[in-house]
Amino acid sequence: MTEQHDVIVIGAGHNGLVCAATLAKAGRKVLVLERAAQAGGAARTRAFAPGFSVSSGAHLLTHFPEELISELQLQRHGLRLAARELATVSLQADGRHLITEGPHASGPGLSAEDEQAFARFHADTAAYAAILAGAFGRRPPRLVDNDWHDRFGLLKLGWGIRTLGRDRMREVLRIGLMNIHDLATESFTDARLQSAVAFDAILGTGMGPRAPNTVMSYLYRRTADAFGRRGPALPAGGMGAFSAALAAAASARGVDIRLNAGVRTIRVEDGQATGVVLDTGETLSAATVVSNADPRSTLQGLVGYRELDAGVVRRVEGIRMRGMAAKLHLALDALPSFTGLDAARIGERMVLGSSLHGIEEAMNASKYRQFSPEPVLEFCIPTVHDSSLAPAGKHVLSAVVQYAPVDLDGGWTPTARAAFEAAVMARLESVAPGISALVSASELLVPPDLEQEFGMRGGHWHHGEISVDQLLMMRPIVLHAQYAMPVDGLWLCGAGAHPGGGVMGLAGHNCAREILRGRKGA
Ligand SMILES: Cc1cc2nc3c(=O)[nH]c(=O)nc-3n(C[C@H](O)[C@H](O)[C@H](O)COP(=O)(O)OP(=O)(O)OC[C@H]3O[C@@H](n4cnc5c(N)ncnc54)[C@H](O)[C@@H]3O)c2cc1C
Repeated sequence: MTEQHDVIVIGAGHNGLVCAATLAKAGRKVLVLERAAQAGGAARTRAFAPGFSVSSGAHLLTHFPEELISELQLQRHGLRLAARELATVSLQADGRHLITEGPHASGPGLSAEDEQAFARFHADTAAYAAILAGAFGRRPPRLVDNDWHDRFGLLKLGWGIRTLGRDRMREVLRIGLMNIHDLATESFTDARLQSAVAFDAILGTGMGPRAPNTVMSYLYRRTADAFGRRGPALPAGGMGAFSAALAAAASARGVDIRLNAGVRTIRVEDGQATGVVLDTGETLSAATVVSNADPRSTLQGLVGYRELDAGVVRRVEGIRMRGMAAKLHLALDALPSFTGLDAARIGERMVLGSSLHGIEEAMNASKYRQFSPEPVLEFCIPTVHDSSLAPAGKHVLSAVVQYAPVDLDGGWTPTARAAFEAAVMARLESVAPGISALVSASELLVPPDLEQEFGMRGGHWHHGEISVDQLLMMRPIVLHAQYAMPVDGLWLCGAGAHPGGGVMGLAGHNCAREILRGRKGA
């Protein structure tokens, strides 16, 4: 088997699968090696209680481009969406919930001025995010030592900003590095609208609304519009079914996928990657090795720092990847009822974010390796749309909860876990009285569990924080941002590479295209 493959991809996360499928389409013989028993990385479905299944990591499909779905023919390979273009309900303890659907915001007492301001804000941020999205589908351009492709990329970026027109161009330069707290408070008077916008900027990060860069992370989230996703979608069967369709698409193109095949080491000879050694000791060779693992696991864990320059090691050690998002899964005997919420809205994306100040306070605790007694969360009840995940009449609630620091002071002991779960349940009770009595089983996954289950260092959503100093030509580290790693023949195709995380597939797609271009290391 060893001699038959041109490329070995380490990891069958969604990016590894997209990369493999793209290489195979161009005629490369590709072998994917996955440590877990299931493909998909942090986009998997699994049972957490008898009869109840859930998307155990990512739970909403927000960014994967429609174009890539067609290109990979995922529908032909089994992808079905149980729901699409979900609205977002920002839940309020007093029942005066705010609902956003694309450019429309509504809710009791929302002023016409704020409604219009939100529509304008939505249109403006969509235009700014579209420029970012354009850059997401290409390798990030080098500023020095660039070639025509990089220059074209830079030109396109500049041209994109130019075509915004004078007013928007000035505005994007003004707000680009601002914090979302300041932008939200200057844009809206309604506190619910301010915190709803702020929540989308901090989800999946370790930042609070007052952190510089959070307008950038908001725009990052808004790139979804440019990919044809005007609201989150739920794959039928959970995210694992989405990944299964990806794996089927890759297999149909001739990719070999081996599950339960953990890679212990990337073999390096004279500065060139030559293959891998599995946990079992088996050795496999290929001229090109691609890693879907995060950058630190790849370069420290699989390659070993002894193969790298001190400068590279310092930069890899400097990547900020402190996981802050936990998952809570609840098996429910019946649908809960949310005070003041129309029952027809119970299947939407829900956000329990508190005020701008409350979100900041929840983050503040994490700075000191604590969690706040009032965590903030995003959740959905996928079984409203997809009965395959629970027994008839029963339901599953899937929540992403912040801020749960990976390095909690004293560790995530059973007592700490119980206290955190109780804090989340208290928040849910505040908007859905009686929900606790419906819970027949629960599962809490804190960042160390996510690290263990998905192999992502620090349990970090993006394999490295999304902030200006870790984006574009700085991702994962300067001088190695075009997927080729500092070892010839070794490439990085996961969320730690440009453009970053979320189930988006572009890191894998761009990486494959760079390998096919035959640049350094191919
Ligand atoms: C709690 C949480 C909630 C999230 N919610 C959402 C959401 O709702 N929507 C969204 O779009 N995104 C969400 N994300 C982010 C999203 O899940 C990730 O950004 C995405 O999964 C990254 O994909 P990837 O393919 O790059 O890497 P991963 O999904 O991390 O996959 C990497 C794969 O490589 C394998 N691997 C690693 N090392 C080895 C080795 N040595 N040998 C063999 N295999 C190896 C791993 O087992 C894994 O399968 C969430 C993330 C978390 C943690």
